Amino acid sequence: MKEAIAPARKIIVVSNRLPFTIERENGAIQFKASAGGVATGLKSLLDGMQGFLVPRPEYLWVGWPGGAVAADERAQIQARALSEFRSHAVFLSEQDFDNFYEGFCNKTIWPLFHYFPQNATYDENYWRQYVRVNEVFAESLLEVVGPEDILWVHDYHLMLLPELLRKQRPHLKIGFFLHIPFPQFEIYRLLPARWRRALLEGLLGADLVGFHTHDYMEYFLRCVQRVIGFKHSVGHVRVGSRGVRVGAFPMGIDFKKFNAAARSPEGTKKKEELKKSFGENKVIVSVDRQDYSKGILHRLQGFEAMLERAPEWHHRVILLMIVVPSRIGIQDYEGMKQRIEELVGKINGRFGAIDWVPIIYHYRSVPFETLAAVYSMSDVALVTPLRDGMNLVAKEYIACRGDGTGVLILSEMAGAAKELAEALIVNPNHRDEIADALKTALEMPAREQIRRNRVMQNRLRRADVAHWAMDFIRELVSKESAETAEARPLTPAARAGILRHYQRSSRRLLLLDYDGTLAPFVSQPALARPSAELLELLRRLAADPRNEIALVSGRSRATIEEWFGGLSIGLVAEHGAWMRDVGKPWELIKPVSASWKAKLLPMLKAYADRVPGTSVEEKEFSIVWHYRNAAPERGAHAASELSDDLLAFTANIDVHVVQANKSVEVRSAGIHKGVAAAHWLGQGGFDFVLAAGDDRSDEDIFGILPERAYSIRVGQRPSRARFSLPAPADVLELISRLANRGEREALTPPADRPIYH
Ligand code: UDP
Repeated sequence: MKEAIAPARKIIVVSNRLPFTIERENGAIQFKASAGGVATGLKSLLDGMQGFLVPRPEYLWVGWPGGAVAADERAQIQARALSEFRSHAVFLSEQDFDNFYEGFCNKTIWPLFHYFPQNATYDENYWRQYVRVNEVFAESLLEVVGPEDILWVHDYHLMLLPELLRKQRPHLKIGFFLHIPFPQFEIYRLLPARWRRALLEGLLGADLVGFHTHDYMEYFLRCVQRVIGFKHSVGHVRVGSRGVRVGAFPMGIDFKKFNAAARSPEGTKKKEELKKSFGENKVIVSVDRQDYSKGILHRLQGFEAMLERAPEWHHRVILLMIVVPSRIGIQDYEGMKQRIEELVGKINGRFGAIDWVPIIYHYRSVPFETLAAVYSMSDVALVTPLRDGMNLVAKEYIACRGDGTGVLILSEMAGAAKELAEALIVNPNHRDEIADALKTALEMPAREQIRRNRVMQNRLRRADVAHWAMDFIRELVSKESAETAEARPLTPAARAGILRHYQRSSRRLLLLDYDGTLAPFVSQPALARPSAELLELLRRLAADPRNEIALVSGRSRATIEEWFGGLSIGLVAEHGAWMRDVGKPWELIKPVSASWKAKLLPMLKAYADRVPGTSVEEKEFSIVWHYRNAAPERGAHAASELSDDLLAFTANIDVHVVQANKSVEVRSAGIHKGVAAAHWLGQGGFDFVLAAGDDRSDEDIFGILPERAYSIRVGQRPSRARFSLPAPADVLELISRLANRGEREALTPPADRPIYH
């Protein structure tokens, strides 16, 4: 199988269903094509791919083909799937699929992610089945995936898949796109702890996680922070040594296809026929899958309210309501259908007459050409989901308005509302708002309609489904999304190079962090007093007139003064707020305010009370919550929660919230170790610069160092530093060798030595 479909690189699209279904007719297997939006987008993507992926890759679609397949039929189906649909089938029994799809997918994730927690079920058997099906997908994919392939996994059915694949193939390029909303933390947390963590970890197995809107992306990042504790920086999450990017990619439609269908001679004919059947009435169209998230009852109530308030529209307007049967939300299926039909009957009975039926209701799906004609003959489209990841119907309606007329009424709860701001935007929960919007729409002058629609049409034409797919894949393969480099371990050869350079240099700068770099962490910060050996080592280094030493610490000024005040070295306290040159008094690096401290201190203290083994440290320009001695899980969890609270609370205060080594620190903004390091570097003339640190606060130093400077980070982590060393003892060993070298020999530096300015 693999040989037949494995060119150098292929794009593998993975989705719950394949773009065809297997059905049986008189016992014989039939393949029925069912092209959806993603299939169209993918096809255009691949057609236009030459530009950025060379050579142009092949593609393969992986998913469940539907239907019951006997073991001895599989090979034959697989061969046909490949030759006719470039697909690879994942075989599941119908029963397994149903338990998975109608279980965890549609009774847990779907309602919860659409903000219907009252409809969500939390069933361990459903969860197990969800895990199992994701595993089957992973196993099946591993049969066909090559090392250079690009995987694009789709939607909420397969949220565990990225991580399952990552475990087996650490270097695979994996993208994930969620087609439904991602909810806010308060909703997401309703999932049992184990599942909520597993789903996020599953997604973080991808290199790129995409959503329709920025809101969903933010909610996801916040859940990652709250549930797992990974912070993000402008849409990047660091997961061990990997970087995961998170982005918004609003999905478009096949604009040309809808636009052309509505304009074509057959489309126009169909439109005229339909129009005739509605007589002089204006037509409001409503098209949805039957689902509680679509707000179908709310829409009917809004229409009813319009008829109550605007009798002048009686006998002049018809609501054409198409409800497409659907298996999602199945438990509410019959009840909902019945309620819709009752309300339609009630409104028609209340307002209708022999010659006018206000609502024409169809419970069925309609073929594409009919749908395009319906869109193009309807004066108004009423699209009011209570929650919708995107909503394509709204976009399709606009695309079909060849002459530019027509009014779209759109719920603000649909992802599409972000892009279609020229529509009449309504809150679907408010029947009067829907009623007002309907009246406005029916009475809107054609010029105004055209003005609004042209803007939206231009946007939708540009941001079509091919553009969406291209954007996503481009981002997935872009260099930026490649892993950020880790510092290279300092090899003996590199170390020898540093020693040689030190030896022949005449003006050297050493910027050294203290905790975690020169001294190991201990349970109580106050116990990390420097050893006599360290003080002696620093004294020896400082005694060399060619050396400038600065100890750059986050500790308080009082502690640094007490411990190191007797040495002839530069000192930096509170991450750069305070600085002291040799022989001079302490100085504030710039004027800063700490008036915010009083407001935030109670918050940190509350955490110290709540979480055993944690404490609060107050410095002049910062406050820190330490959790080194808390139970690790509990501490890390509370740290994420506190950071999140602090970030939300301090949005308009000039402070930074920093999660460091077993601590969460709030400090005045604009102060960091980089500013302090720049003070020493600014003196200029150094021909040897070395900086060593162990946490994120030291990255600010590494970031401003000249290119040829030596930077060392303790611990193996992604870093701007050039080198890494395992532990503080290794740093001490290195700098004591420097001290020895300096004392032993004082060679004249070569003339071409580098000078740092
Ligand atoms: N649609 C369909 N058959 C129909 C009516 C509509 O296939 O009889 C399509 C419609 O063109 C649209 C999709 O179903 O592309 C509905 O997508 P939307 O994003 O609006 O809602 P979803 O059903 O995905 O929640």
